[in-house]
Amino acid sequence: MIKVCKFGGTSMADGNTMLRVKAIVEGDPARRYIVVSAPGKRYGGDEKVTDLLYAVHEEVAESGHVGERYERVRARFSGVARELGLSLDIEGILDETAKEIEAENTPDFVASRGEYLSARMMAALLGVPFVDARDVVKFDAEGRLDERTYPLLREALKGKRRAVVAGFYGEGADGKIRTFSRGGSDISGAVVARAAGADVYENWTDVSGFMACDPRIVENPVLIRSLSYKELRELSYMGANVLHSESIFPVREANIPIRIKNTFRPEDEGTLILPTSRYTFGGRTVTGIAGKKNFTVIFIEKSLMNAEVGFAYRVLALLVKHNITFEHMPSGIDTMSFVIDSSVLGHGVLEQLCEEIREEVHPGVLRVFDNISLIAVVGHGMSRAVGTASRIFRAIADAGVNVRMIDQGSSEINVIVGVDNENYERTLRAVYNEFFRE
Ligand code: ASP
Repeated sequence: MIKVCKFGGTSMADGNTMLRVKAIVEGDPARRYIVVSAPGKRYGGDEKVTDLLYAVHEEVAESGHVGERYERVRARFSGVARELGLSLDIEGILDETAKEIEAENTPDFVASRGEYLSARMMAALLGVPFVDARDVVKFDAEGRLDERTYPLLREALKGKRRAVVAGFYGEGADGKIRTFSRGGSDISGAVVARAAGADVYENWTDVSGFMACDPRIVENPVLIRSLSYKELRELSYMGANVLHSESIFPVREANIPIRIKNTFRPEDEGTLILPTSRYTFGGRTVTGIAGKKNFTVIFIEKSLMNAEVGFAYRVLALLVKHNITFEHMPSGIDTMSFVIDSSVLGHGVLEQLCEEIREEVHPGVLRVFDNISLIAVVGHGMSRAVGTASRIFRAIADAGVNVRMIDQGSSEINVIVGVDNENYERTLRAVYNEFFRE
């Protein structure tokens, strides 16, 4: 049995939490390969080392050398090394790192040093080898994970009883350090799990698993004890941020289950995420509800749109021209709409796009709605239960909320509802109460 364990920032925040990690790892001989994040917040209002490192990058860009911000990074690492009595020349490593940052001040390189230092410390604490992600995690010229990563990782782990691998970064095709997107150590953990042929990928964090809804909005939501990769993808993409939404791709190919565990309550069972094929329907209609605010809907209507060859193609080409991705595209016979993250439409982009759509396809109506929230109701059970959609919409109507948009995902495991931002919380609560407080 091989378990790959990824520990997040709060698990690596200080000496005490690192000792917890050590106890967890050593408590199970199957926990062989450990992937770590950079130290996170120790208390509310504290700084995450990664955020601080992005600020160091700016500091060096302005002045040419590391300064007060880097000293704060140094204090975090050397304080913990002292506290734990590590036999690691942390001051020497930090001096060396400062020089490297001054020589290669890219945001990715500087940010990656949080995971590098954190992994070196964890390896020293456990007394096991450190594996530098630069040597084994490779990206191709487009910035995607290069398949060479898997044999390289396998080779590096071969013959090692245990090892610590730094999360979040790897090496780009140009030989420079690159990071995944924020929260990407989850992806590193999944990559290591696949390379190691793990039986399970344990993702250790500071919550006891996935909740059926955002606990900041719904009081004491139920824990999701198990869900499928597909459900996870839908929920994490829509803002349930326990796990990076891209972490399922590496493990999915090898059918490796993921278990979310809580470093601060290791006895809790957590949430098990299973390959969709192995997922057994537990009788629930809805597995979870998630949502995000601040979308813009561009609505286009034109009589006989259906008969006009290339209509959608021409509108889509304009989105491509502006490098805009859309989240959803609900459409009818004579209508089509695009749901787009509002943040990419600033600085006049929206106005220009609308102008170009008018010129290109001469719509009868072109309307823009902004301040829209999207709510995803997710569950394999929905396709089996009769009347689910009507329950969702009745609950929303009873809460006095007007639905601005509906999209049923073609995967049939989710229904997306758009409402005004001001009704976001109310809608989440109404749908949650309908399905979970029966
Ligand atoms: N430290 C990185 C971040 O804060 C990556 C991670 O923790 O997963 O985004």
